[in-house]
Amino acid sequence: MENRKPFIAGNWKMFKTCSEAVNTAGQLVKLVKHANDIDVMIAPPFTALVPVSDVVKGSCVSLGAQNLFWEDEGAYTGEISSAMLVSAGCKYVIIGHSERRQYFGETDETVNKKIGSAIKDDLIPIFCVGESEKERESKATFSVLDKQVKRGIEGFSTDDLEALVIAYEPVWAIGTGKTATSSQAQEVHQFLRSMLDKILGNMLAKSIRILYGGSVKPSNIKELMTMPDVDGALVGGASLSAETFSKLVHYQV
Ligand code: PEP
Repeated sequence: MENRKPFIAGNWKMFKTCSEAVNTAGQLVKLVKHANDIDVMIAPPFTALVPVSDVVKGSCVSLGAQNLFWEDEGAYTGEISSAMLVSAGCKYVIIGHSERRQYFGETDETVNKKIGSAIKDDLIPIFCVGESEKERESKATFSVLDKQVKRGIEGFSTDDLEALVIAYEPVWAIGTGKTATSSQAQEVHQFLRSMLDKILGNMLAKSIRILYGGSVKPSNIKELMTMPDVDGALVGGASLSAETFSKLVHYQV
């Protein structure tokens, strides 16, 4: 893993009211308070960001959002800007999650604009890419990822992308219980890192963290984390319980 700090990120999706989110975040802060040399993030729904930000303040748990809109402000009913997320206490933002691509018309172009907005406001983008089952079966995984990555980061400088985090999330493994094997994950992560090497140079390719996402749970995290190019996990279902998520954070124990 070279010198990349492991990163365990939880995506709570459309789960938890404010009080439920505050409770879970409070439990998590206690359970991971001795976690060292690891970055931890939770991304609650927008409505819970501010109250959860108070709970995680001063702890090793950072706050992330699940989406943003690229304009700074304006008549865009229902949307949230990156500056608003920063003001709510966010450090990270998940961009281009496959559920947003699948259900809300997210494209590589909108993902690119959102990454630009996050960078402008010093939010760290967690940029999600991944192939569908059909694409994997037709051996299109690498070409799909090549296009998603190139279009997503098009137009940014190496300075812009210094803090970028990439999440490889095969669509067929999200919420399905089917995890990519550690060697399948490593094969793709290695491919992504070699792409980054060609596009952004060796320094950034070595420092950008690539997370795996797709049915990560306490029983499979250790094996995934032994892979040299897997730097952490983006976790959906298993992040909703503080106890289960804390086991992922403590995967080395
Ligand atoms: C996700 O939504 O990013 C995800 C990986 O979900 P799950 O862990 O539930 O498969």
